[in-house]
Formats: sequence, structure tokens, C-alpha cells
Amino acid sequence: MTLGFGVVGTGTIGKEHINRITNKLSGGKIVAVTDYFEESAKKTVEQYRLDAVVYSDDKALIADENVDVVLVTSSEAAHEETVLAAVEAGKYVFCEKPLATTAEGCMRIVNAEMKHEKRLVQIGFMRRYDSGYVQLKQVIDTNEIGEPLMIYAAHRNVAVDESYTNETAVVGTLIHEIDALHWLVGDDYKTVQVLFPKKTKAAHSKLQDPQIFIIESNSGIVMNIEVFVNCKYGYDIQCEIIGEDGIAKLPEFPSVITRKDSKLSTGILTNWKDRFVEAYDIEIQDFMDSVIKNGEPEGPSSWDGYIAAVTADACLKAQETGAKEPISLKERPDFYNDERTIQKTV
Ligand code: NAP
Repeated sequence: MTLGFGVVGTGTIGKEHINRITNKLSGGKIVAVTDYFEESAKKTVEQYRLDAVVYSDDKALIADENVDVVLVTSSEAAHEETVLAAVEAGKYVFCEKPLATTAEGCMRIVNAEMKHEKRLVQIGFMRRYDSGYVQLKQVIDTNEIGEPLMIYAAHRNVAVDESYTNETAVVGTLIHEIDALHWLVGDDYKTVQVLFPKKTKAAHSKLQDPQIFIIESNSGIVMNIEVFVNCKYGYDIQCEIIGEDGIAKLPEFPSVITRKDSKLSTGILTNWKDRFVEAYDIEIQDFMDSVIKNGEPEGPSSWDGYIAAVTADACLKAQETGAKEPISLKERPDFYNDERTIQKTV
């Protein structure tokens, strides 16, 4: 069986996913595309030599009977409407983060999905498919370092432009740590507080950079997460779990080590695409395999999207107030309690 993909949004990551589904992975074919900027959709069809219909909007694309999966790679604010329409039509959805820009929006999707009595939606939290994170999770799940007590994590980018705000630091950057750390320790979050250290001269006037988010889980694990998006030296993702019996650290991205001119050195990546390229491939392949073999996606769910949205809202509030803010989740519906959706490892 080959899944027909309809792509909504042919920007940066839309094109990346089109390329991997068309040229690298197996089980999927792009059959339809749409973009607010229709010219971009048409150019994409030419660029990747797709045998695909170009639609003027997402509703027409969803209605195409050849579209089995709606791939949502449009801008953040447009996700909810497209995902809801696709779910209501009973189509599978692979949605780039965020699922919706509000917790209420995510709940609308959760409720629409539950009406179908099977999972339709997967979110693009690709860290769960990165081999380093998968190894880290195995160490935790097999109790090798005992109960996790603390986490030190960092998300560093070379530089950002003026369009990047304090809000982007949460909804565009920290959101990956929010999902990955929750998945790693399998414990809901309780509170968050934000600290603003001395600001780097490299940050523009409206951006606080770096920022430190201190998130506490229900069982008391304290997670110290640095977001530093003008660090200059590279794109660097760090994660260290301090357990009762030992410490587990995310492996460094492999790079050749050179010895030259009295120096021992190794490269550091500068780009998120290079850092997670394999994880993107594995997540989309896993999505296709699960849908084809089991009739349901098994990766990050709509409920994970809801958890991320509630946590992000609390982080934004904590940025404003400087206080410790509660992270209050509704009770997880039984529908999302399936082991597969909580603990899946690749
Ligand atoms: P982008 O380059 O701006 O592309 C988005 C495209 O979607 C634009 O061409 C935009 O058109 C179009 N669009 C917006 N609303 C639409 C709608 N309702 N119907 C059809 N087309 C629509 O953005 P991007 O960097 O690819 O990011 C896309 C999404 O992926 C974002 O949610 C982003 O957060 C996420 N993302 C995730 C990762 C990850 O690591 N998982 C990495 C990068 C991006 P206009 O420009 O005309 O509005």
C-alpha cells in the first residue's frame, strides 16, 4: 500500500518532507499540494517533478479522495483549522509543531480525534526519533541510573534575526525540550519559572537572551533548560539527566577529530536540519509504517500537542511575571493512555 500525501504549506520544512517522502523513504507519494502563495506550490511540483494536483486551498486538498494523509507544514497559526478539517474528514494527519497555537485549540483537535475512536494525528516532535535521545530514554527506562532527579538541558543557536521574540523562544525553540523531556521521564509538569541572566550584546533590543526555564515535574524532578539563541559558536543541543545511581548524557553529534598545529579539535554543527536530518527521516518512515501496518500512527499524539501547548502558555506567563507559575493539565483521556502513545521508542 502507498499512502497519498496532500501537503499544506510548501515552505522550508514542507519541501524537506516532500523531498524525503519522494526520494528517500518508502510507502508514500505526494499526490496534492497547496500553499497560500500558489506560485510556491506550483514551483515545488516542478522542482521535485511531482505527479501532484495543485489546489488553491486546504479544504479542496482534504476533499481529494487520493489524499490519505494531510501533511501540515504551513505557518503555526494555520495549523488548527487544517488539522480539524482533516480529522473531521477522517484523514490521517502529520502536523509539524505546534498542533495549535492555544491549549483550547489542541483540545478541539483531541475531541475531534476521539470521536473517530482511533488515532489519526501525529505531531512532528522529531527528537523522539533521534538516536541519541532514544539511547538516553533506554538508559532511563531500564533504570540504569535510577530515578531521575534533575536535568540540565540547553538549546543553542548561532544567531536569530529581529523577527525572533521572547515568545518565539518558547513556542519555536523550547517547545522541543518541553516535549522531549516529558517523554524522557514520563512525568507531567507541575510548575515553571523563568530567569533572565545577563543579556548578550549579540541579542536585538527586544529579545532577552539567554533565558533559563526551571520546570518541576509532579514527582519533583527539576529541569534546568537554557535557551541561548545568539551563542555564536554553533547549533548545540545538550541534555544531561542526573539520576539516583548515575548520570546519563545525550551523545555529542559525531564529527571527525583532528590533531593539527598543537590542537585537538572537532567540528560543531551550525544548522538544525543537519543535526536532526536522520530523526526526520525515521519519524516520517515510522509514521507511514504504523499507519500502513496498524491503521494508526504511534508517535507523538494530539495529547502530547496539548501538553506542549499548556506548558508553553505557562512558560510565557512566567516570562512576564517572574514568578513560579502552575502548569495545569486536564486529566489524560483513556484514549491516549495506550502504552504505545506514551513510551514509544524506536
Ligand atoms: P515557512 O517556510 O514560512 O513555510 C510555511 C508555508 O506555509 C508558507 O509558504 C506559507 O505561505 C504557507 N501557509 C501558511 N498558511 C497556509 C495555509 N493555511 N494553507 C496553505 N499554505 C499556508 O515555514 P517553515 O519554516 O517551513 O515552518 C512550517 C512549520 O513547521 C511551522 O509550524 C514550524 O514551526 C514548523 N517547523 C518545525 C521544525 C521542526 O524541527 N520540527 C523545523 C522547522 C519548522 P505564506 O508565506 O504566504 O504565509
